[in-house]
Amino acid sequence: LPRLAVFEAIASHEPQSSAVIHCTSGRHFTYGGLLKDVANAKDKLCQAAGDQSMDGQRVAFLVENGYDYVVTLLSILGCNSIAVPLSSGFPASELRYILENSETLMLVSSTKFQSKAEEVVKEGLEKTLKLATVQKHLAGGKSTDQVQLDNLKDDAGGMMLYTSGTTSRPKGVLLPNSVLTAQSQSLLQAWKYTGSDHLLHVLPLHHIHGTVNALLAPLFAGSCIEFLFPFNVKAVWDRLAAPFLPTSDSLKKPSITFLTVVPTIYNRLLSSHPELKSPELEASREALSPSNLRLNISGSAALPTPTKSAWSELSNGNVLLERYGMTEVGMALSCGLDYADRVDGSVGWPLPFVEARLVNSETGAVIPLGEEKDSNGKEPEGEIQLRGPTVFKKYWRNEKATSEEFVDGEDGKGRWFKTGDAAIRREVEGAGQSDQDWARGPMYFIRGRKSVDIIKSGGEKVSALEIERELLSLPQISEAAVVGVASEQWGQKVAAVVVLRPGQATTGRGGKTWGVMDMRRALKEKLANYKIPQEMKVVDAIPKNAMGKINKKSLVKEVFGDDA
Ligand code: ATP
Ligand code: MG
Repeated sequence: LPRLAVFEAIASHEPQSSAVIHCTSGRHFTYGGLLKDVANAKDKLCQAAGDQSMDGQRVAFLVENGYDYVVTLLSILGCNSIAVPLSSGFPASELRYILENSETLMLVSSTKFQSKAEEVVKEGLEKTLKLATVQKHLAGGKSTDQVQLDNLKDDAGGMMLYTSGTTSRPKGVLLPNSVLTAQSQSLLQAWKYTGSDHLLHVLPLHHIHGTVNALLAPLFAGSCIEFLFPFNVKAVWDRLAAPFLPTSDSLKKPSITFLTVVPTIYNRLLSSHPELKSPELEASREALSPSNLRLNISGSAALPTPTKSAWSELSNGNVLLERYGMTEVGMALSCGLDYADRVDGSVGWPLPFVEARLVNSETGAVIPLGEEKDSNGKEPEGEIQLRGPTVFKKYWRNEKATSEEFVDGEDGKGRWFKTGDAAIRREVEGAGQSDQDWARGPMYFIRGRKSVDIIKSGGEKVSALEIERELLSLPQISEAAVVGVASEQWGQKVAAVVVLRPGQATTGRGGKTWGVMDMRRALKEKLANYKIPQEMKVVDAIPKNAMGKINKKSLVKEVFGDDA
C-alpha cells in the first residue's frame, strides 16, 4: 500500500530545517521533530479510538493556528481518517452543524478550546458523536524515535472542508488524500515553492486557501511556515520589516519570501501602512520589494485593480499574482510567475493537471477555445467547468448537490464540475510566452457568480465584478458591491452599495454630498449606459464573512428590503 505522499515529502526534507515558526514567541519546529510528533499524536488518537477502526472516519479538531494544528491535522491523516478542521471563530450553532453534518467520530481540541469543545458536545451531541470524547492536546509528550507512518491507505482519509457559505449553508467537500496531493503538486509546479521559501501564514486554516496553498503545499516543498495568529495588521508590518531594521544581528529574522492572502487583507495592509514611522516605514518597503518578497498572491475574491497598483507602488514594483479557486477544486486558474503574465483583471490560465472549459449557460454548448469574439465582437461568456485529479469527489452526504453540480463529458474522459462562476477568455498581447508551458493561450477573466453577479437587465447580461472594478477606481469609494435588484421595467436593475472614503462625502456637485448622480457622471466615460448603477446606497460597512466575501443575497435584502 502506498504511503501518503505528504509524509513521504516531509520525511525527505532535511530533518534539521525549520518547518514551522510561531511569529510571536519565535519558537521553531523542525521537519524531523514534526515527523516524530505526528507519529506520537497518531498513536494517541488510535488508542483513544480503542477497537473502532479509524479508516475513513471523520475526526474534527478545534486547535489554534500553529504547530499543534499542523501536528493534529497530519496525525488524523496518519490514521487514515478524514480531518474536519473547525474554527474557533464559529459560534456554537455552526460548530454543532458541522459536527452533526460530518458525523464526526471524535473531536480533538487544544487546551485553550477544551471547554468550548466540551460545551458544544454536551448540548445533545453525545448521541451523535460516536465517541463523544474531546481529546485534548495531541502534540507534545514523549517523542519516539520510531516513526510509524507506514501502511497508510491512500484514499481512505483526507480532509473535509466546508465551503465559505457565501451563497448558502456551507457544504462539506470531501477531498481524499490523492486530491490534496494533486492540488498541492499543481501549485508546486506553477508557483515553484522551494525549501528556501519562508511563508507568512495569517489566514484561517479551515478553508482551502489557508490549508492547501499556505500549509500543505509548503510542507510538500520543505518551506518554512511562520504563523502569525491572530491576524493583526500592525504585527504583520512589524514582522515584514524586522529583517531590514538596523538592529543587532543575533535576533535577525529571515525575510518573508512568500505571502498569499485575500484582497481585503492587502487593502487593510495598504491603508494602515501610512501609520508606520521610520525606520519601520523604509524597512517594510524594502521587505516587499521583489528581491525579498519573491511571490505575493491574491485570491478567494476578485482583486481590485487599484489595490494591485497601490501594492506595486508601495513595494518597489512587486506585482500581485491573482489566481482563482474554490473549496471543491483547490486552485484552478492562475496568472504566471512572469510579470507579463499577471494581467490586470485576469486570473490567468488553467493550472497544471487542471482541464477547464467555458459553457454557454443558456444553450449548454461548449465555447470552443479560439472563439474569443462572437458576431457582435464581444467575448462570449460562459460557466467555468473543470475536471482532473484536483477536483473533489462529492459533497458529503449530499447526493442531490453532487449530481447537480457535475455533468458528464461526451468524450468519455470523465465528468466536469460546474463551478457556478462565469468567465470570458481573451488573448492578451505579450502574455503567455514564459517558460511555464501551462500558461498559454487566451487568459480567463472572471465575471462573477452566475447566481448573483450576472445581472440580467433589459435583455443585457451585466457583470457585477466589472462594475465593481470601475466603482473602486473612483477616489470617493473604498468598498463596493454591485447587485441586481428586481425591477418591473428591466427585470433586474443594476444597483450599487458603497462605502465612501472618509472626507469624500462632500465632493459632489456644488459641494453637496457625493451621490448617485455624481457616481453616474463619473462612470459615463468608462461603462456603457446600461451597466451604470441606477441606484446607489451608501453604508458604513459592507458585511463580509471570514474569507472577506459578500453574501449578495442577504445584502440585497438588508439594503433594498425583502421585495427587492
Ligand atoms: P459557498 O459555496 O458556500 O456559497 P464560496 O463559494 O464563497 O461559498 P469558497 O469555495 O471558499 O466558498 O469560494 C469559492 C468562490 O470564490 C469561487 O466560486 C468564486 O466565486 C470566488 N473566487 C475565488 N477566487 C476568485 C477570484 N480570484 N476572483 C473572483 N472570484 C473568486
Ligand atoms: Mg461555492
